[in-house]
Amino acid sequence: MRCPYCGGLDTQVKDSRPSDDSSAIRRRRICPDCGGRFTTFERVQLRELIVVKRSGRKVPFDRDKLQRSVETALRKRPVEQERIERLVSGITRRLESTGEAEVSSEAIGEAVMEGLKGLDDVAYVRFASVYKNFREARDFEELLGHLAAGAAQATPPADAVVPVEEAPPSRRPRSRAS
Ligand SMILES: [Zn+2]
Repeated sequence: MRCPYCGGLDTQVKDSRPSDDSSAIRRRRICPDCGGRFTTFERVQLRELIVVKRSGRKVPFDRDKLQRSVETALRKRPVEQERIERLVSGITRRLESTGEAEVSSEAIGEAVMEGLKGLDDVAYVRFASVYKNFREARDFEELLGHLAAGAAQATPPADAVVPVEEAPPSRRPRSRAS
C-alpha cells in the first residue's frame, strides 16, 4: 500500500482489527520512509459495480469516493464516524444487491440523499445543493420547504399557520332592502 504522504511503497502494518460492525478489517499502517501513519480498510466486495454517469461515461463504483462525498456533506456535523460508516456500507450493499451490473450516478445520489435526510438535515441540504447543482435560491427554498414540511408532520407546532387561499373579493349582491 502506497504511503499517501510521500508515495513510498514500503509501508508496514502496525495493527489489524475488525471495525465496530465487523464488516471490515481496519489496518493501521506506518511508512518507514516519512513516519506517516494512515489507516486502510479491507471489505467484502459482493460484485463489481459500474457507475453510469450523466455524461454516459462508465466508471467502476468507488466506495471511498462515496464515503468522501458523504463525509464532505457531514463535515463538522455532530454525527459519529461509525454512523457514517454504516450509512455508506448500507448504500453500497443496496447498490450491490440490485442485481444490476450498472447503476446510474443519479440512483447513487438519491440513495445518499435518502440516507442523509434521516441522519442530519444540514448535511442533507449541503449534499442536495451540490448533487442537484442548484443554480437559483428558489431551489434551496423549495428544498428547505420540504424539510420544514417533514418536521411539521413529525411534530406539529401548536401555532402552525395553515396557508389559506386568498379569499375572493366579495361579490355578494347589495342588499335590496336598502
Ligand atoms: Zn511516507
